[in-house]
Amino acid sequence: MNAAVLTIGDELLQGFTVDTNSSWLGTILLPYNIRITKKITVGDKLNDIISETQNILDDKYDFLFVTGGLGPTHDDITKEAFRQLLDDEIIFDENYYLQLKQHFEKRSIKMPESNRSQAMLLKTADVIPNDNGTALGMHLLIKGTHTFIMPGVPGEMRSMVNKYIIPNYIKKTPVENFITIKTAGIMESHLAEKVNGLMEKYSHSFRFAFLPHYSGVSFRINKLDENENLLNVKDEFFKAMLPYAYGINDNTLEEILGLKLIEYKFTIATAESCTGGLIGKRLTDSAGSSEYFLGSVTAYSNQLKTSLLNVPNDIIQKFGAVSEEVALEMAKGVRAKTGADIGISTTGISGPSGGTKTKPVGLVYIGVVTPEKSMVKKYNFNYGRNIHREMTTTAALNITRLAIEQG
Ligand code: AMP
Ligand code: MG
Repeated sequence: MNAAVLTIGDELLQGFTVDTNSSWLGTILLPYNIRITKKITVGDKLNDIISETQNILDDKYDFLFVTGGLGPTHDDITKEAFRQLLDDEIIFDENYYLQLKQHFEKRSIKMPESNRSQAMLLKTADVIPNDNGTALGMHLLIKGTHTFIMPGVPGEMRSMVNKYIIPNYIKKTPVENFITIKTAGIMESHLAEKVNGLMEKYSHSFRFAFLPHYSGVSFRINKLDENENLLNVKDEFFKAMLPYAYGINDNTLEEILGLKLIEYKFTIATAESCTGGLIGKRLTDSAGSSEYFLGSVTAYSNQLKTSLLNVPNDIIQKFGAVSEEVALEMAKGVRAKTGADIGISTTGISGPSGGTKTKPVGLVYIGVVTPEKSMVKKYNFNYGRNIHREMTTTAALNITRLAIEQG
């Protein structure tokens, strides 16, 4: 089944607000076999809303999701647009008005008169409750197209879809047709080489996509044939992508590393220079990380590398702060200082300045010391300061994961 999305609001066109509603709808509807095949954004302009809605209705979609323009202010004109389009009437819902009034009274706020507009509804619409706000949603069946009119506020729109629209109008059990394998530490083209044969083998009933980003490549598998087993096929691809594949769907590298640390009963501490604490931040993003994460030392200056991490000053002088030797000493130092089983370190040049001929911007050394081994990896991530730190952090987490897995 096909769906179209119409998002309404000047702020979406001007870029002040990013349209997250349509992307959220796109993914939430897929398990119900509803594909969004058209997405239109219009400003708060009556004629544009009417004509774009008419175009979509002419194209006979199964569903149309409209968001935005239901607020109480002058620019919220979605209801008026549909009234004109459908030659409908706008009615005043006395009960809802009283409910709204009470809602404000409970908070000891006098209800602004403009909120009266929120009790105005299209006569032919079914009401969709709003558990998170005051603007009601509406459902209309227009020449075979189930049309849902919802507020723009993402939290309100999402709960309407989850609580009322899916159960009442879509009424299907979700079928998982998509699965994403997450990988780190390998380029898209190299990953493709590993699974070209498998992709060919399954091309008759699956579709595949590589989704590269700075923190790794995701590989999405889309099942087209109901009779196929998505999980078995995922397992085959996952195996072929080892050791780079680390998880699926929403799994994060830090979460998977955390599980490994728990499994091996290891604690971990970080000594961060160029990442400025980002590795510690990502490790503590996972609830329960106190079980393995002891802490992190952000040692940016040479002085702190020496005083807090016991990196010998002569090593810094001889090899420079950004060097394999210093990375190793930092990882060893934080391990010794904290008593952690594993120490991770980073030292590099995030840029844009600070590079030299022998040590260019982007250069980074990552040290990992475990009870079994010590290693330092050298990379060059020359994509700007923030991406340098993001890629370094990801690489550090991934090297640590591999070091534990491979013993
Ligand atoms: P409205 O229902 O038009 O009053 O929208 C209320 C607020 O919701 C706007 O100020 C935006 O911040 C937000 N919003 C509206 N449309 C979207 C959208 N498509 N994606 C994300 N946020 C949105
Ligand atoms: Mg608006």
